Amino acid sequence: MKTEPTHQLWLDKDDRYVWHSMKPYNPQATLIADQAKGCWVVDAAGRQYLDAMAGLWCVNVGYGREELAEAAYEQLKTLAYFPLTQSHLPAIQLGEKLSELLGDEYVIFFSNSGSEANETAFKIARQYHQQRGEPHRYKIVSRYRAYHGNSMGALAATGQAQRKYKYEPLAPGFIHVPPPDRYRDPDTADDPRQLRAVKAVDDVMTWELSETIAAMIMEPIITGGGVLMPPDGYMKAVKEVCEKHGALLIVDEVICGFGRTGKPFGFMHEEVKPDIITMAKGITSAYLPLAATAVRKEIYEAFKGTDEYDYFRHVNTFGGHPAACAVALKNIEIMETERLFDRSREAGEWLLSALKTKLADHPYVGDVRGRGLLVGIELVVDRATKEPLDVSLVNQVISQCKAHGVIIGKNGTTVAGYNNVLTLSPPLCISDDELSLLVRVLTEALAAIQ
Ligand code: PMP
Repeated sequence: MKTEPTHQLWLDKDDRYVWHSMKPYNPQATLIADQAKGCWVVDAAGRQYLDAMAGLWCVNVGYGREELAEAAYEQLKTLAYFPLTQSHLPAIQLGEKLSELLGDEYVIFFSNSGSEANETAFKIARQYHQQRGEPHRYKIVSRYRAYHGNSMGALAATGQAQRKYKYEPLAPGFIHVPPPDRYRDPDTADDPRQLRAVKAVDDVMTWELSETIAAMIMEPIITGGGVLMPPDGYMKAVKEVCEKHGALLIVDEVICGFGRTGKPFGFMHEEVKPDIITMAKGITSAYLPLAATAVRKEIYEAFKGTDEYDYFRHVNTFGGHPAACAVALKNIEIMETERLFDRSREAGEWLLSALKTKLADHPYVGDVRGRGLLVGIELVVDRATKEPLDVSLVNQVISQCKAHGVIIGKNGTTVAGYNNVLTLSPPLCISDDELSLLVRVLTEALAAIQ
């Protein structure tokens, strides 16, 4: 076990040399990870934590899988690098495997992060319409409260003003529509096509002029905006609206993909065939950086013209790195042999129902929702008014969980600056005992703020 003075030394150096993302200045609260196995992370002081966020919603098969390290090592010895302006075997094998997992013929463009995968999707959508003689189709529709990445286009697509305003102006041509919010703004329409959030897409595409719309981007479940569960049939109805206006549907599976919601991909809960699917995080369970933009075969075919300007003028050096592809292949093999998609569904059902039961009478718990091992707990001051709970109390719950060895997250954008939704997104291999521990520590932490 490492001693406290050593830990303090690391904290001091960390504050001096490492610029962290998304953190109010509080170096003492930093968890300096040293090693990890399964669902457990050990910090530089030797303390253990159950990581119920799987890093940043990404270590889907859990930590410490030696097969993944070996896959990277073997690949680096065989072929450390080759650009995808040409090709290499791991990329071809992974492309085929992803297409199989997606259940249809998709062609894959590889990159390194979720943001890049979305940028790639926007560029493909715009150029696709140009190739087909509709050059005015450039606008991308996305939803308020969704997060799609940190780069100038992906952030423009993001619907969270408080993340954006210090960096504006961002890329032009992005417009937003409201997402469905079943907790705060329930919609009882029987026919999904009559949902307000579906009609909003139709209206906005009409008012903006159909002929200017390139695509709509959406997550199956808005994750970073507070785990917003859509009504059944919503995505299918949005797809129909997109088709009516001649727009492509891009589904952002960066978090929902690779088993997080209990199926290989989140869109599979509805009968939808997206035009473009973006993925990252769980594709390698974060063992190495990799992302992918999967494109319907017909769209890809539109880029096969003989004109000098017909091809996709988009390249990145590291995208589809051979070692990352090899790790992704082994990662998917683990998910399949250990039936982790099913495990996510079953464990998620248990987790949701345990939390709903235990928190049924808690005055600050407004809503418990989720699918698979993706759960959000919306905290409010008053169940009747649904006024969001002050973030200091939300932070208190998170700190108390951490003090008892459990890492949970928070998110949500009900009111600018508020983060009143606790989030859970553990590795899919989480055991029954670990789930029970998570529920116990979390309910105790919530009881303490009552
Ligand atoms: N899309 C979604 C839905 C995300 O949650 C994220 C990151 N959390 C991104 C895109 C961007 O991914 P990255 O951080 O790898 O660029």
